[in-house]
Amino acid sequence: MNPIFSSLQTSVFEVMSRLARETGAVNLGQGFPDDPGPEDVRRKAADAVINGWNQYPPMMGLPELRQATAAHFRRWQGLELDPDSEIMVTSGATEAIAGALMALIAPGDEVVLFEPMYDAYVPLVLRAGGVPKFVTLTPPAFGLSEAALAQAFSAKTRVVLFNNPLNPTATIFSDSDLDLLAAFCVKHDAVALCDEVWEHVVFDGRRHVPMMSRPGMRGRTVKISSAGKIFSLTGWKVGLVMAAPSLMKVLSKAHQYITFTTPPNLQAAVAYGLGKDDAYFEGMRADFQRSRDRFAGGLRDLGYSVLPSVGTYFLNVDIAPLGESDDVAFCQRLVMESGVAAIPVSAFYAQGAVKTVVRFCFAKHDATLDAALERLAARKRAA
Ligand code: GLN
Repeated sequence: MNPIFSSLQTSVFEVMSRLARETGAVNLGQGFPDDPGPEDVRRKAADAVINGWNQYPPMMGLPELRQATAAHFRRWQGLELDPDSEIMVTSGATEAIAGALMALIAPGDEVVLFEPMYDAYVPLVLRAGGVPKFVTLTPPAFGLSEAALAQAFSAKTRVVLFNNPLNPTATIFSDSDLDLLAAFCVKHDAVALCDEVWEHVVFDGRRHVPMMSRPGMRGRTVKISSAGKIFSLTGWKVGLVMAAPSLMKVLSKAHQYITFTTPPNLQAAVAYGLGKDDAYFEGMRADFQRSRDRFAGGLRDLGYSVLPSVGTYFLNVDIAPLGESDDVAFCQRLVMESGVAAIPVSAFYAQGAVKTVVRFCFAKHDATLDAALERLAARKRAA
């Protein structure tokens, strides 16, 4: 069997969700909202299942979805994308990342990764034959530095796999960080593979800046978006890939032999949803921001050291001030003894740099958040 996959453990999200089910814990681990998602978008999908086309859609995605994607990112991010040659629909952002790595790197090429990073990245890079080079980001800012980039880039760098806004840190890279990274990509002739799935889930009036818009990056960026994150429907697995035609030609070859197409009914519903008015997107952000504030406030009242969260469904707690030095052991105790599931952020570090940060998902109903806070309060009383 392939040694990369046969030596992998079950993902931390699955492990914690299973433990939460078994113990009846409040699950603030795996990132998914309590809310069922926008009903009009779900009704469009249901209608398309009953009355629409259920055979293979075009390999690149429904034309109406590619047009809606171009219009959406022109409206929200000022990008000009050609729906015919620069946009492709995949079965989720993870397929898009896996396919892009297969398509862009040859064995021995180096891939720059920023830890903490989503747990799928390293196995996918390795399986594609890439050699990971890590830039380690540390709390509380999790920002870039020229020295760290200079260490990671080399003449063999082919791809930079960059997630912004960043899961699990709930941070957004500054414009100067983006420009610094862009300069390194240009200098080393590297492609930026940009996982921007959290682009709409940003708070406090922030606006997402796509890497593709930075100087020198239009022709060397692959932008990946996710309908699951845009519409809070994480099970849908509809990914959107955007790149210049020369890149897209090769990316589409990977897609055609991985999944080939993506359910047409979901594509039709996403095409409709991308056209929803600004109020929907602003409202979604405001709702999540309110949940963030409710949960962060509750944690602070209990004495937890809460790190800033400016995007994603997550906020992090630094457990070092509690005298804790092992986030995995802490999360085990939290779920078994106190009935709250969270994610140890060390699972996102390849080299063990940080072991005292714990991630909570706040994209939940008030009752769920309050139940978790009540359990944490009981834990404190018992201590
Ligand atoms: N993106 C989700 C998270 O970060 C997890 C998805 C998964 O379970 N693989 O929590």
